[in-house]
Amino acid sequence: MNQAPDQIRPRPRAGIMDITAYVPGKSTAPAGVAKVHKLSSNENPLGASPAAIEAVRDIAGRLEYYPDGSAMRLRQAIAEAHGLNPANIVCSNGSDEIIGLLAQTYLEPGDEGIYTEHGFLVYQSYIRAAGAVPVVAKETDERADADAILAAVSDRTKIVFLANPNNPTGTYMPFEEVRRLHAGLPGHVLLVLDAAYAEYVRRNDYEAGVELVAGNQNVVMTRTFSKIHGLGGARIGWMYAPAHIIDAMERMRGPFNVNAVAIEAGVAALRDRAHVERTVAHNERWLPWLSEELTKIGLRVTPSVGNFILIHFPEGERHSAAAADAYLSAQGYILRRVAGYGFPNALRMTVGTEEANRGVVAALTQFLKD
Ligand SMILES: *Cc1c(COP(=O)(O)O)cnc(C)c1O
Repeated sequence: MNQAPDQIRPRPRAGIMDITAYVPGKSTAPAGVAKVHKLSSNENPLGASPAAIEAVRDIAGRLEYYPDGSAMRLRQAIAEAHGLNPANIVCSNGSDEIIGLLAQTYLEPGDEGIYTEHGFLVYQSYIRAAGAVPVVAKETDERADADAILAAVSDRTKIVFLANPNNPTGTYMPFEEVRRLHAGLPGHVLLVLDAAYAEYVRRNDYEAGVELVAGNQNVVMTRTFSKIHGLGGARIGWMYAPAHIIDAMERMRGPFNVNAVAIEAGVAALRDRAHVERTVAHNERWLPWLSEELTKIGLRVTPSVGNFILIHFPEGERHSAAAADAYLSAQGYILRRVAGYGFPNALRMTVGTEEANRGVVAALTQFLKD
């Protein structure tokens, strides 16, 4: 019998095969490189809090037990640290999971989800996974633009994702603009403020979004332990949201979506304020240093408020981002290609240890001379 392939094997739902699988930052260098500096995933160069590491050692002896499915201690610790009501918090297996669940919960096939031109690519994947249509709002000077987002709203729009600050640009939308954006959205459109890098921002006109969530029914804020807390491997994210959204999310999430190791690591990390402060201080020292040094050697960098920096390379093949990437990798410096984000000729670099930061600047100085 001649049967079409889709009759003899299961077929993914419409739209799934249009998704581009997420490509994480590289973690390996070519063979023979003595020391690898992974600067490709915005991880904490100081590592996780020693208290979190200790807590993980402790829980290792109790892995036969299921975790608390409501992650109550973690939610309480978050609530305490941020002055929130734990009832308005849901935790997740990384904030990626929350982003996906929001798309699954609020988008129907044919609906539209908006994200910005150089916005975090995970949004696009999850919008597609929900059978919906990703709509791109133009940015202005590598910054999310409230007016462009509002202009992209149609009667099919159900969700707007805004990374603030954004990855990979490192730019942010001042909070007056975020408020104006929110004020222009219809009440049934969900505004997702992804504040993955909030702790790093040192600007008076920045807010992560707590007040906007508290005062409205259509705004949520997502956060992560992957960046400031150095716990990317433990996969811990959370969302602060109005009760009706928490209610929907409680139905959608897996019963034990945050594992016991993550809960213990997260609680300990939150209590270690000194580690958070050390991390912020490190970034405050090295982010401006990198920006200045890279500018001095003739590279354009996008002004960043996060723990990473977008470096633009000159036109032409000799000193392109691809050539720089190969040159740096050969010396053990692993940066992030960002062609998929609309930057074919840029690399994103995480602010690293002093050794890594100085090493990259020295290597790029040589690279541009060669
Ligand atoms: C890193 C990052 C996240 C966090 O992802 P996790 O799943 O929590 O590790 C979320 N949003 C943006 C914009 C990020 O860069």
